[in-house]
Amino acid sequence: MTVATTTETVSGTVLSAQDVNMKNASAKGGNDLNNNFNGMDDRQGVTEKDLDDYLHNYNKWKQSRAGRALQQWIADYLGMRFDAEIKWKNVAMIGGLHLTTVVMFFKYVWYSTLTTWLWGIFVGGCAGLGVTGGAHRLWTHRAYKAKLPLRIILMCFYCMSGQNSLYDWVRDHRIHHKYSETDADPHNSNRGFFYAHVGWLLLRKHPECIKKGQLIDMSDVLADPVIQFHQRYFMALKILFTFIVPSMIPWMFLGEPLYLSFLANCLLRYVLTLNFTWLVNSAAHIYGNKPYDSRIRPAENKAVSIVAMGEGWHNYHHVFPWDYKAAEMGHYSVNVTTFWLDVFAKIGWAYDLKEPSKELVSRTLQKYGDGTHITTPIGNLKEVPEQDPLKSR
Ligand SMILES: [Zn+2]
Ligand SMILES: [Zn+2]
Repeated sequence: MTVATTTETVSGTVLSAQDVNMKNASAKGGNDLNNNFNGMDDRQGVTEKDLDDYLHNYNKWKQSRAGRALQQWIADYLGMRFDAEIKWKNVAMIGGLHLTTVVMFFKYVWYSTLTTWLWGIFVGGCAGLGVTGGAHRLWTHRAYKAKLPLRIILMCFYCMSGQNSLYDWVRDHRIHHKYSETDADPHNSNRGFFYAHVGWLLLRKHPECIKKGQLIDMSDVLADPVIQFHQRYFMALKILFTFIVPSMIPWMFLGEPLYLSFLANCLLRYVLTLNFTWLVNSAAHIYGNKPYDSRIRPAENKAVSIVAMGEGWHNYHHVFPWDYKAAEMGHYSVNVTTFWLDVFAKIGWAYDLKEPSKELVSRTLQKYGDGTHITTPIGNLKEVPEQDPLKSR
């Protein structure tokens, strides 16, 4: 069904109504939040002075004297220079978490029961869906609409991932799409794999990124009562869903000692969830082919798609960020998120699922693709000599 009430763009081109398909289109608005909004607009009425004031305030943050001295020491004696101040608190937290996880994994976690492992996979899957189906496809890109029960479920699942607040996540990801691979991109992959993966959380943001973040229109996100609730109780929800619920259940109902349950769920599972999300920003921006647009860095990466529940088809996603599948093909084995969104669409909790028309995808890949799309004829075949019909007799 084609009901395109929305105007979208692909590489700067305004699309016609036939270019956008919507599945399960709603008869009328209902609880729609910003019906035609695609998450990529600028806020209205922000002046240069507003930005300067904000930046001035932001710049009041300074490294401690000890932190500055340590960074200087690293530069002088180890030769490692960074182009921004190191956030030592984040280094200690993220570094400490990873180090402890590796040590504890070999010492204890390895010995937890199969049920605890399965529970960890289940919690990891829920957390992943909260990030991919919630923070990413729903709140950032408005690729579909969700009724209240689904928004609540996705918000709770998102809290299991233990990441930044939803507001910060959405803003950062909108900047990432709008200013990919520039100074304004929070995890600019031109600064290397490590920076795009986790380094961006350990260093001070580039001023251009802070400035552009202020310009992003977040009114739709702030208007959602589910996000308002999340924002108000962010830390309590994070502690509850990332640490308490995942570690209490195996202890209370599955006979696992509390310490093992905690280590398996609050360390190993947490660290894996974080890294699987980060791989989309690092690996999927560096390794893979580009069937839809060879001019951009994001690429198609199957391995990332498997661990990130369908988010590794990143060349496609950056060309059509408003497609609810975040991929052209909907094979569920490498796009678990799409499977769940289709299930929720069946029961009516997800609707107005947006997709580009087949013609638009085909036009785009023929014009800009690198020739690796499955439908692209293999040019080399022309060089294979045609079989001589006389000889084959
Ligand atoms: Zn990206
Ligand atoms: Zn995206």
